[in-house]
Amino acid sequence: MSKINFAGIVDHSTIDYPEKLSAVVYLCGCPYRCPWCQNAELVFNEGNCKPIGIDRIIDQLNENFLIQAVCVTGGEPLMQKETIELLRGIKSETDLLLKIDTNGYFPERLKEVLPLLDFFTTDVKAPLSERYGEVVGLPDRWEKIVDRVERTLNILKKWNHQKEARTTIVPDMIDKKEEIIEIAKLVDDVGFTLYTLQQFRAERTLDPEYEKIQSPSPELMRELGRAAKEHLPKTKVQIVTQQNGFEEIRCKEGEI
Ligand code: SF4
Repeated sequence: MSKINFAGIVDHSTIDYPEKLSAVVYLCGCPYRCPWCQNAELVFNEGNCKPIGIDRIIDQLNENFLIQAVCVTGGEPLMQKETIELLRGIKSETDLLLKIDTNGYFPERLKEVLPLLDFFTTDVKAPLSERYGEVVGLPDRWEKIVDRVERTLNILKKWNHQKEARTTIVPDMIDKKEEIIEIAKLVDDVGFTLYTLQQFRAERTLDPEYEKIQSPSPELMRELGRAAKEHLPKTKVQIVTQQNGFEEIRCKEGEI
């Protein structure tokens, strides 16, 4: 089997696959440069990143008797073409439910791996405009990025399984109600079953200036969650904060 650039496995997680105990496989590389990213070492192929045989990752998963699922994440897991071989191997050589977390930049690879997946999470980081380029730290490439994210969303429209969209709320970058509503309308259009707003944390950020920024408050997170929920009657909406973990946002105010 081929080698893949890999940073490590977390053996047991209760938050990376809905209602299942999962392992999390971290792969290296990412085409974006989100200034608020907390995985700079993975993005730049540094730190623990090293090439490893795909069979060794699968063996490690098979030795883990407690898990029911595996989440393959990054960086951006679809950045490496070898990820397709890894996902095929996990599907054929383990009994685990399989999920990936992606940023939507690789629609063609996504099309290839979708039949292997049981659950899927994609970032929708901003409205589909020049704002997307600003939020991912590549303002000059926004048109190409938006085109690829749009293609990803169009592929996902036809995929009738559990699928999650996720937006990170970053102060003064992406934290305005109007923009979250715009994203929520996209989430509704694609038919995502789950929409998660996650709280930015000012730790080890790609741009050190973001370490000086305060995380958005749980109150602001709830307010944005409610604004999204108003446009997502059929989708479960949740926020995740350091203070309170996951909280579902329900239709009427006060029912959280
Ligand atoms: S936050 Fe942005 S730069 Fe960091 S891994 Fe995710 S998509 Fe890549």
